[in-house]
Amino acid sequence: MPANRTAAADQLEAASRDQIAMLHAAHPLIGGQMREEEPSPAFIARLDALGADLIGGRLPFCQHLDASPQPVYAALWDDAVVCGRCIGALARLTGDADRTCDLCGTVEDAQYVAVVAVGPLVVMFGRCSTCNRDDRP
Ligand SMILES: [Zn+2]
Ligand SMILES: [Zn+2]
Repeated sequence: MPANRTAAADQLEAASRDQIAMLHAAHPLIGGQMREEEPSPAFIARLDALGADLIGGRLPFCQHLDASPQPVYAALWDDAVVCGRCIGALARLTGDADRTCDLCGTVEDAQYVAVVAVGPLVVMFGRCSTCNRDDRP
């Protein structure tokens, strides 16, 4: 394997490890639970669409990101990929948009926030009570 491929693979592995460590450190601070679960078909479909938009260049990036593997963040309610410094720039929703499940589109008051690490990408989304239950192992 050429040296630059090895370096990129090492960066990808380090970025993925950093995101898992960040989730372990953050979840007690925000009162969340850490668990491994089988992803629902609805989440996989949204993740596939996000990946296609990412690879297709249809998702805007923050100015700090380049092609090197690094921890990155996305929210299923927003169309952007950002670095850790720019998480605050992701859309803040209000009204019905804030009560809309990012997986099935159901509007209800009780939305459960989920944060999932997929390699170096941390994906945040809100899900309704039905999708939250469906995702439990
Ligand atoms: Zn940034
Ligand atoms: Zn739902």
